[in-house]
Amino acid sequence: MISIATKIIREYFTGKDSRFIFTKTESPYTSPVAGSNLYLHIPFCNSVCPYCPYNKIKYDKAMVAPYVQAMLNEIELYYALFGRLDISSIYIGGGTPTLLSGELKIILNTIRDKFNVRGDICIETNPAVLDDAIIDNLKACGVSLISVGVQSFQDKFLRLIGRKYRASILDEAVEKVVKANFKSVNLDLMFALPGQNKEDVTYDLRKAIEKGVNQVTMYPLFTFPYSSVGQYLKLKKVRMPNLITRRALYYHLYHYLTQHGFNRVSVWGFKKNEAPRYSSVTRDNYIGLGAGAGSHVPQGFYLNTFSVEEYIKKCLTHRFPTALRMDFTRQMQNYFWLYWRFYDTYIPKQELSRRFTDKDKKINRLFTSLKKLDLLADENGSFTLSKRGAFWLHLLQNYFSLRYVNKVWSAAMKQAYPPKIDL
Ligand code: SF4
Repeated sequence: MISIATKIIREYFTGKDSRFIFTKTESPYTSPVAGSNLYLHIPFCNSVCPYCPYNKIKYDKAMVAPYVQAMLNEIELYYALFGRLDISSIYIGGGTPTLLSGELKIILNTIRDKFNVRGDICIETNPAVLDDAIIDNLKACGVSLISVGVQSFQDKFLRLIGRKYRASILDEAVEKVVKANFKSVNLDLMFALPGQNKEDVTYDLRKAIEKGVNQVTMYPLFTFPYSSVGQYLKLKKVRMPNLITRRALYYHLYHYLTQHGFNRVSVWGFKKNEAPRYSSVTRDNYIGLGAGAGSHVPQGFYLNTFSVEEYIKKCLTHRFPTALRMDFTRQMQNYFWLYWRFYDTYIPKQELSRRFTDKDKKINRLFTSLKKLDLLADENGSFTLSKRGAFWLHLLQNYFSLRYVNKVWSAAMKQAYPPKIDL
């Protein structure tokens, strides 16, 4: 039912000639994009969480050196292809990137050696893998924005989602990061967890705010079929919260954070003061390095092979590890941009009318309906999602777009080079 609805809506907006299909390729995107961002994927984790949708493997010391060398070779390959690119920002994700905190220095120095890095370096971290030495390393590498994946300050929820650390380590870990004076510290927390009520949400938010972080990202527990969380929760005989509970929790956290001086910066992100916003997915163009890393370029989307062994093999023989590509029509590009502006909850009118003409009836109808439904407000120079609008977008993301991620990730994790993935 959802698949059919998605196809109809997709075709209505982007046209019949839009093809949402990934096809096998061994070549990367070949035209340099000025001001690209870089994404580095470090796939190692000490233990594998049952809800986790990302491309990761259990840490294996023997694989670290070849993986790092493979990434250095991939940087060289892009340098040979594009020359000395201007890079607007670097985002390091995983996996648990801090498991390689010593090696990150070598990787980042090589990037600086080959490209002009102009913007911030951001990293996501796991509080169980953060100590003084790692924090010092990150500072020495030039990391400026940091996110700590706390998820919850309560043992009952950490146990429920299969995190392998206790809440008692969190105060010290977060305090150390805050004291280290990064430009911005984000804390990832989860809501809509089975059995969670408003008091639980308040407890976690109060702890986060007391620690003095600049940003809090409260995201819901997603149930990707290929992660084992569905099965895991079933075994534990727990039920996911229904729509009404989910909405009540979202509105609760929304009010709590805005009353405590945080401003909404995305559907799930709330930021305080002038610190730069920490964000992973909303950047316009980026080149992905590492196993399973994606590259988004104006003409489409490219994915490296998800297989860590295959990634190493390809890069060590000086070949690009690219596995899949999806070409975008002009309309698809514009709607992709719009999708992420809805996620930001803020759509600048000037850029909107540059991409869609005033005569675009579909866009006009969409915005008129959203305004009538009180999901969107027309403010000076921009359209802004209301609280209701942000909640419904959160649902839409959960039900529709995560299906895409799920389909692509499941196929790419099964086969190093899937011939085709039809969305
Ligand atoms: S949630 Fe984080 S720590 Fe857990 S397996 Fe996924 S990437 Fe690793």
